[in-house]
Amino acid sequence: MKPLPSFVLSARWILPIEGAPVENGRLLVRGGVILGIEPQTSAPVDFALGNVAVLPGFVNAHTHLELGPIPNLEIDGYEDQVSWLERVIQQRMQTDEAAMQVQVERGITASLAAGTTALADITTAGRSEPGLVASALRGIVFSEVIGLKQARGEQTSSLACDWLHSPEPGRSRIRRGLSPHAPYSTAGSVYENAVNQCKTLATHLAELPEELELLACGTGRLRDFLERINAWDPTWKPLSDHPADYLRKGELRQADWLVAHGNYLKPADFWQFRPQAAPADQRVTVVYCPRTSARFGHGPHPYRDMIKEGAVVCLGTDSLASAPSLSILDEIRFLSRLNPETEPSLLLTMGTLGGAWALRIDDEVGSLVPEKKADLAIVELLEDGIADSDPARLVVEGNGNVVATMIDGRFVFRAYRNS
Ligand SMILES: [Zn+2]
Repeated sequence: MKPLPSFVLSARWILPIEGAPVENGRLLVRGGVILGIEPQTSAPVDFALGNVAVLPGFVNAHTHLELGPIPNLEIDGYEDQVSWLERVIQQRMQTDEAAMQVQVERGITASLAAGTTALADITTAGRSEPGLVASALRGIVFSEVIGLKQARGEQTSSLACDWLHSPEPGRSRIRRGLSPHAPYSTAGSVYENAVNQCKTLATHLAELPEELELLACGTGRLRDFLERINAWDPTWKPLSDHPADYLRKGELRQADWLVAHGNYLKPADFWQFRPQAAPADQRVTVVYCPRTSARFGHGPHPYRDMIKEGAVVCLGTDSLASAPSLSILDEIRFLSRLNPETEPSLLLTMGTLGGAWALRIDDEVGSLVPEKKADLAIVELLEDGIADSDPARLVVEGNGNVVATMIDGRFVFRAYRNS
């Protein structure tokens, strides 16, 4: 294998995320690792990038690469999520293995082109792992376990655990985990089995009002839906009528959790997302997927209150079945328009360092500081009409594209051949 590259690049702005932005800065990279950032000098550079911002690569902390687009059937401004779930199941049943792999490959290419350098992907029985391992991306593949009925829960757990304990494909930047789907679709025993097998977990939690009703009363549109698809178990009892309890009952507290959505988490739940509340260095993170939440009319999301309470909240795109692209920068720009009062630098931190922390790769990536890997997103600055010199605002409120992406100092995407 060729040695990792050494170079100096210059850019109008370098945003290290940890530390102040540097205008007209130079980023020094040796062997794929950051040496430092310094002001521009007359010394020659290998890449003079011009009017761009250089950021740490984006981290997409929740996606399902294997799912393809599902058209939006919006009525009165948003779409009914229970009907959408039914259409996702139909799509899965109609997609064969080869088509799923094509979808995963497309997702990887789109992610790199969006400046994403690490992601957390939820997949069926580990299927996206070969594609991700062959790519340059870092991250975690979670195999999904699902089923209220005992037989279905055991079947999906057995497939996922066979994969989890199978030999890993050589040296890889991709780790493995398990993902109990959601409290409304997955028996408590399946959650408990997952934590006994693996301490790297992901789930969908407190996502929709129908979930709260099903847990509290055993009734509602989700129950009708589960009966219709023959997935309802009349003997099922939830672990708790409160979604956040799924992260803290017994052994379930002894794992890292990537918690997708959390749209309906209550202020009384926020404490358990603080790193100090973890019993032994576990990391429990909420992954907010702004465009997906908006598509189904949820909100407002409590991310700012959670962050004020000391929780780590990061960002995900969810899948193309609910979001129009796999770009964290698109999520950040959407969220900035939704909440213009949120500091752009906070949104960029959620989309980079926050996600790296959630995936436990923050010692390697997530910010541009010496000794971290040169995983970079390079964003063109088109700031027409933005009367502000804050570079985070120029990135977030501008509409410049990602023009290049680097992992370990190697280009993994370039919009222009000579950029
Ligand atoms: Zn999801």
